[in-house]
Amino acid sequence: MSSETKILLAESELPRRWYNLVADLPSPPPPVLHPGTLQPVGPDDLAPLFPMSLIEQEVTAERYVDIPEEVLDVYRLWRPSPLYRAHRLEKALGTPAKIYYKYEGTSPAGSHKPNTAVPQAYYNAAANIRRLTTETGAGQWGTALAFACAQFGLECEVWQVRASYDQKPYRKIMIETFGGTIHPSPSTLTKAGQAVLDADPDSPGSLGIAISEAVEVAAQHSDTNYALGSVLNHVLLHQTVIGEEALLQLAKVGDTPDVIVGCTGGGSNFGGLAFPFLREKLAGRIDPVIRAVEPAACPSLTRGVYAYDFGDTAGMTPLMKMHTLGHDFVPDPIHAGGLRYHGMSPLISHVYELGLIEAVAKTQTECFEAGIRFARTEGIVPAPEPTHALAACIEEALRCRETGEPKVILTALCGHGHLDLAAYGNYLSGAMDDREFSAEDLKTANLPRV
Ligand SMILES: *Cc1c(COP(=O)(O)O)cnc(C)c1O
Repeated sequence: MSSETKILLAESELPRRWYNLVADLPSPPPPVLHPGTLQPVGPDDLAPLFPMSLIEQEVTAERYVDIPEEVLDVYRLWRPSPLYRAHRLEKALGTPAKIYYKYEGTSPAGSHKPNTAVPQAYYNAAANIRRLTTETGAGQWGTALAFACAQFGLECEVWQVRASYDQKPYRKIMIETFGGTIHPSPSTLTKAGQAVLDADPDSPGSLGIAISEAVEVAAQHSDTNYALGSVLNHVLLHQTVIGEEALLQLAKVGDTPDVIVGCTGGGSNFGGLAFPFLREKLAGRIDPVIRAVEPAACPSLTRGVYAYDFGDTAGMTPLMKMHTLGHDFVPDPIHAGGLRYHGMSPLISHVYELGLIEAVAKTQTECFEAGIRFARTEGIVPAPEPTHALAACIEEALRCRETGEPKVILTALCGHGHLDLAAYGNYLSGAMDDREFSAEDLKTANLPRV
């Protein structure tokens, strides 16, 4: 048994295929519906926004998809990413548990987002698209896509949720450094943004509103496509490179996880880490508990309804069956901007309905407490989003201290918080409050009739 701190893979061990969980599920997720006809969408319905190669990945039933050489070449800038054993955190907690974290903060954007931004830019460039539009919350996705577009000679135009745009000015500079263009959302540049501003000139924005703006512009130009940083099947597919590496890394030290925890905004870093382990679980080789952690202010899995809803606020996207708080729900401006999305990935929602994963919600002060504990022991300042996973990790490790169980806990440290320091400042000065979703919020949720 090894007591190494960093478990590393050679570049030659970089996985060459992404894993598609759908191939191994007892039933497929419900189809995506056209909002007009309420019939399952076909490839032609999605063609104005996505290249055919990504549409095929969205619906594929194949178990594995080969990663193109051009994508592997860019992945090698930071992949394989390190798996750490959190010796110092374990010691500080006095727990017999072993805590492992897969660190995605070594990427160009500082998070897991480039794992899908790179293939999305690659496939769009291969389809002769000139420009990609997108939304971003905390700015991680916008940064990742701007980086990826620079690699493949595409223009990148980003709508960033207003609350984050004001809180995190360095993200804007980073996106511009990679050659992207950025607008606060809601903006006056689109009909969707203008409509929100007419109703509320001080709107803090939301991911749902920013998606409406980016989709509107992409739909109007044939040389422009739209890229989504989470939620969709092809995004989760690309992120499975995380879990495939982690499986190899844990095998090197002879451990198998008893508990896997990850934070969920749209579900991509969580799915990316967990799905390859879920494959092993479904095959009966391991039996970990897999737990999603979401913010108490935006708890789509634990408090939302499982229903068909739009992916955006204006109702321009197809209808997806997912756990949702209603497409016009605007969450309080908590600091984990990447977790402020009204819905959850349809695939994660389906897996949750099948009982294959659990979910819990955490308040932001508990999460920042965990983030600071982690920074002081492990030396990495986590992004506000994965502090949710760390809070659940610590909770589990402290339970092990009570029971004496030496469980193996695995989590995704999906990003660093170097551009989120204002949030830490807020916490350290005692100015952070806890916002929780209320039952009233759900009563007023606006859901389409299907
Ligand atoms: C975008 C983001 C998230 C939320 O998105 P998921 O698809 O749920 O992973 C979480 N953490 C970080 C660091 C992010 O950038």
